[in-house]
Amino acid sequence: MHPIIIVHGGAGDIPESRVQGKLDGVKLAVAIGHKILEQGGSALDAVEAAVVSMEKDEYFNAGYGSVLNLRGEVEMEASIMCGKDLNVGAVTLVKDFMHPISIAHKVLTDSPHSLIGGEGAKLFALEKGFPTVPHESLISANAKSALEEFLQSGEFGRTEIGTKNEGGVGTVGAVAVDARGHVAVATSTGGMSGKVVGRIGDTPQIGSGTYADDNIGGVSTTGHGESILKYCLAHSIIKLMEGGEDANTATRNAVTGMTSRLKNTAGAITLSKDGDVGIHFSSQRMAWAYIKNDQIFYGINQNQVLKESFTSI
Ligand code: ASP
Repeated sequence: MHPIIIVHGGAGDIPESRVQGKLDGVKLAVAIGHKILEQGGSALDAVEAAVVSMEKDEYFNAGYGSVLNLRGEVEMEASIMCGKDLNVGAVTLVKDFMHPISIAHKVLTDSPHSLIGGEGAKLFALEKGFPTVPHESLISANAKSALEEFLQSGEFGRTEIGTKNEGGVGTVGAVAVDARGHVAVATSTGGMSGKVVGRIGDTPQIGSGTYADDNIGGVSTTGHGESILKYCLAHSIIKLMEGGEDANTATRNAVTGMTSRLKNTAGAITLSKDGDVGIHFSSQRMAWAYIKNDQIFYGINQNQVLKESFTSI
């Protein structure tokens, strides 16, 4: 099996001035994950590393640059799944750590539990040696303006803010199949601007934000969390593939199905167990990138596929 990785940088009405930063960020993240796979690393390590790269980048709504809740705080969520044994790790309501996805990975490997939140997630992370960071160091100027704009408009559900005030940014995710044919998926987010304290979205919920099964494939989703979790979007795509649809058809059908039923937008990236790619979003934009046959494919607008030759980083 030739390994493959695909990443996304969040679905939404992304303003023009943030397009290039997001494209650069997804291209870097996919290159980092690709390198791990090319060196024989596992799909789990590749998706974690790709997501860590985007958690560091303020162009994305994850880690540093996460959007803020109504009290002006960051509350992050992440999940990771291993398609070999369906093992999962997820965290929610995380405040003082730079890389929620790495804590989620530790939950997968070192905890009898699947999803740990709030104080418990903090205790678990401290016990496992993750360093805390000052809460304010996770807050970007963009996230602050996004909250201000939300407080003026009151439009919950927008993860991206319009051209007037470009505060919002996007959830991140990665799906990989490694050389041994194992599938893994990771997704990480700050949620939605102006969420109530303690709100939990789709991202840490397995079957909504993330799903991986070596027998079928893997999916990471982004968009309106309350809709994605009602529709179990990631698992819906997996089920359509299990029923015989190819990765792209299943991704398109489930995303458009969710949007027509629940009147909110979303996006998803999918790989079949054989490495076939699926990408679809009902929002205006979603940044994505994957590497295949020494070429990097990427895009952010509807029906856009850009292509460049790729030399490993
Ligand atoms: N799905 C995320 C949430 O609702 C937001 C996003 O994907 O931008 O928390």
